[in-house]
Amino acid sequence: IEELLRRSEKLTTVGQLAAGVAHEIRNPLTTLRGFLQLQKEKGLLIPLHIDLMLSELERINMIVSEFLILAKPQAVHFQEKDVRYILNDVISLLGSQAHLFGIEFESQFSEQPAMVHCEENQLKQVFINIVKNAIEAMPEGGTITVKQQTKENSVIIVLSDEGEGIPEDMLPKLGEPFFTNKETGTGLGLMVSQRIIQAHKGSMEIRSEYGSGAEITIILPAAREPGPQSRID
Ligand code: ADP
Ligand code: MG
Repeated sequence: IEELLRRSEKLTTVGQLAAGVAHEIRNPLTTLRGFLQLQKEKGLLIPLHIDLMLSELERINMIVSEFLILAKPQAVHFQEKDVRYILNDVISLLGSQAHLFGIEFESQFSEQPAMVHCEENQLKQVFINIVKNAIEAMPEGGTITVKQQTKENSVIIVLSDEGEGIPEDMLPKLGEPFFTNKETGTGLGLMVSQRIIQAHKGSMEIRSEYGSGAEITIILPAAREPGPQSRID
């Protein structure tokens, strides 16, 4: 019964999400149609309108690609991976973009391996989403700290920034689809991240005091000791 409940819950959330996505895409589509209609009637192309149309198209593109991350079951392939390498990949991937905004990374990783049973690309996506939010929260620059600890049964990852933080009344809304305070945001990043962490049987917590940055803690179950066949003696 529990499994059934879980499945039907999953179906309703996916359904709600699909409805939300459709709605969010309809808005920019309406704008696009309006501008095209106008050009057809007047027969002239106004550069400002073209820019607006392009940014609406970009918005649709972003919503669809974030949604696809959730809806792509064929890509799910769980393997044992060391989280430290995934974190390093993300840091080097976003490093140059961060550098442009005067942002530095500081990483503090455990000495022991941090093996988790995961779908590497999805986990990478989670860290990318969180680091992107941190970069976007620090237009004046600062430090993003990436801490990782290995415990007996879990791997803990804490990502913190020195941005403006999150107002208290906004905290409960985080992770709701399409909740964003950014002009070009999709409001899907945190929700997608939460879903992915849930699928990895982990937990994700967002802590913030308005004015003094945000801190995201992810706890993942540690993968079991490698079997005898993979041990090098
Ligand atoms: P988006 O980035 O497209 O707005 P997200 O789901 O990634 O969507 O984030 C939702 C909202 O949560 C953001 O619009 C922002 O208001 C808030 N937020 C998330 N991370 C941070 C952070 N590190 N600092 C401040 N606010 C944040
Ligand atoms: Mg985001």
